[in-house]
Amino acid sequence: MLAKVRGRSSSPPDNPHRLKGMRVLITAGPTREFFDPVRFLSNPSTGKMGYALAEAAFRSGASVTLVSGPVALKSPPGVRVVPVVTALEMRKAVLREFSRSQIVIMTAAVSDFRPKTYSTHKVKKKNARLTFALVPNPDILQEIGTRKKPGQILTGFAAETRSLLKNARKKMDAKNLDYIVVNRVGSTRSGFAGDRNSAWILSRRGMAKKFPDMSKKKMAALILKEIRHRR
Ligand code: C5P
Repeated sequence: MLAKVRGRSSSPPDNPHRLKGMRVLITAGPTREFFDPVRFLSNPSTGKMGYALAEAAFRSGASVTLVSGPVALKSPPGVRVVPVVTALEMRKAVLREFSRSQIVIMTAAVSDFRPKTYSTHKVKKKNARLTFALVPNPDILQEIGTRKKPGQILTGFAAETRSLLKNARKKMDAKNLDYIVVNRVGSTRSGFAGDRNSAWILSRRGMAKKFPDMSKKKMAALILKEIRHRR
């Protein structure tokens, strides 16, 4: 009888230190846009995808900075976390880190708008207007897309309700990205919250791959693998 060969599998194991010496910048979570000290505009993002990516990048040997909106997750060991609250704070933190990062992955669900005015005191119910004005927040990813230098790899996330691949490709071009990860949102709210996700990853070079329903941790490892292979 043949002895079983230990430690061998049919596909070669991924080199766990492929990102050694690289600086990885990741954004995660929602932003909060306050209109008084206790009320804000936000979204249901939990930050799980970004935190899973940060953990996986650190395990691959990278030096990782995670710019995180308010979430209920523990800081991944070994990862430098920069906590922010608003989109404007996130923009400032990203711009500070961007030029020295080789891999940038933006998973944050940045609030597209913020209230036009902020009241330093809690707005009394009887004084509240039932409509209030919003102003657009800067698109952080688009902005760094215009500043990208050769050797920097930029990955964005997208949530679409229809024509996933077509809309994702448009977004990849518009924001000058190298990769985009897109998932369907709508009736099931897939993508937000939860520990699992299904998505497509597309590259500027024309690679398209489907990630069937899987844990966000597993998807994080597969996303990094694609980015490392630069297809
Ligand atoms: O255009 P859309 O919001 O769908 O793009 C999503 C991608 O852009 C995500 O990677 C998100 O982190 C990033 N984004 C950003 N700043 C914004 C809006 C989105 O960095 N204000």
